[in-house]
Amino acid sequence: MTDKRVALVTGASKGIGRAIALRLAQDGIYVVLNCSAHPKEAKAVAKEICAAGGEAEVVPFPVDDGEKVIDAVDKILARLGRIDILINNAGITRDGLLMTMNPTDFDKVMKVNLYGTFYCTKAVIRQMVRRRWGRIVNIASISGMMGNAGQASYSASKAGIIGFTKAVAREVAERNITVNAVAPGFIDTDMTKAMSEELREKAAEQIPVGHFGTPEDVARAVSFLVSEDSGYITGQVLAVDGGMSM
Ligand code: NAP
Repeated sequence: MTDKRVALVTGASKGIGRAIALRLAQDGIYVVLNCSAHPKEAKAVAKEICAAGGEAEVVPFPVDDGEKVIDAVDKILARLGRIDILINNAGITRDGLLMTMNPTDFDKVMKVNLYGTFYCTKAVIRQMVRRRWGRIVNIASISGMMGNAGQASYSASKAGIIGFTKAVAREVAERNITVNAVAPGFIDTDMTKAMSEELREKAAEQIPVGHFGTPEDVARAVSFLVSEDSGYITGQVLAVDGGMSM
């Protein structure tokens, strides 16, 4: 048990999820870091948080497996008493033009990005409703707002997350629970490191501020959206994209 607010951050072993976990811990929140394939990396993030005076633990589970999500969340709730904040950050890409995109890859992207968001939100929402306080932030993407060639599956999953965010926000608004989405543009993480130098330069040309963002840029927006100060903001999509989607 802890007196602090408790946050579950999915996909927190690296990249944007790692930065969000570090930031929320700095904000005085007890952070449960989730990941799937790389628990060692997630444990290193938890260690970094604890070394800086924060509190964190790691609970690995695949967000795309509904039963494992329920099992893991129930165990966290039994131990810590509550989850006040959920950050649905875990996400993957399987990029390719539609003509060559296979159904297995399409399915996997939907499963992790969209179903993962659904499973985790459903698993935590009842106890938030009961306690009449909660903050949910879903990490979407400007690909879900603008579309992106070569990312039909990813864009569809992220557009789905935006619709999901607004629907759930309406369902729980009266219970003092806010549900918002953050839509990053191009952020420097492993996900974008796979891009060729030529593609990166082309992408940067489309960004009004002229460069990729950092995971910390996204984490700062999330920090605000889970704070007391943002209680009157719900169902919104906040682009953190250097102006790219305006
Ligand atoms: P990343 O560096 O590739 O990290 C992805 C994270 O998701 C890892 O911690 C990974 O953990 C976790 N993950 C993947 N599959 C999972 C599963 N089935 N269950 C649980 N965790 C899983 O990606 P990122 O760039 O930080 O992206 C984070 C989020 O931001 C994603 O939703 C992404 O779509 C979104 N986003 C990123 C950008 C960008 O430019 N980077 C732009 C827009 C939106 P394991 O490796 O341990 O499995």
